[in-house]
Amino acid sequence: MQKVACQPNNSKPGPLGEAACSMNTYVEVPTLGRVQVTGRGASGLEAAQHLKASVEALQTLYAPAPVPAPPTREARLCALLACGLTKALTASETPDYPLVERLLKAVSLVVRGMVQPGERAGLMAVESDTTRGMWYQIERLQCTCRDFKRHLERGNDRFYCKHVLAVLLNERINAEQGA
Ligand SMILES: [Zn+2]
Repeated sequence: MQKVACQPNNSKPGPLGEAACSMNTYVEVPTLGRVQVTGRGASGLEAAQHLKASVEALQTLYAPAPVPAPPTREARLCALLACGLTKALTASETPDYPLVERLLKAVSLVVRGMVQPGERAGLMAVESDTTRGMWYQIERLQCTCRDFKRHLERGNDRFYCKHVLAVLLNERINAEQGA
């Protein structure tokens, strides 16, 4: 507030009833700039109360929208899972339930911190779900696990095992976190 002045209004009451006291001030309001606000009342206190209420109402109405908090790691993982599940269930006429299962296992690997950087750049390591302490190596969407090899031998070179999916999910949530 820059200026507050109480000016007793001594003129004769108008048809709407002039207030005995009025106060003016100027406030900076986002998007409006400098705005003059007047509070009127039968007494100085009442005028001040009306002025205060008007200033607060203006500031509340024009308050800048709060910046939403960035989504948590869990929220990003949920969003990615929902996206993956939708693709698995709707990309073709028959729902790909084995892919749904691999996606869920991949999320489980990410949540439990079983996806780790490998020994060199570009190489990732994912711990086995069944044999703890055993790590599979993943590079360029290729995995050293049996499931991946079996599909590759059958000519399916676009197969994503749960470890590859876990690496992809982990990469995405880390990239979004840094963004
Ligand atoms: Zn694998």
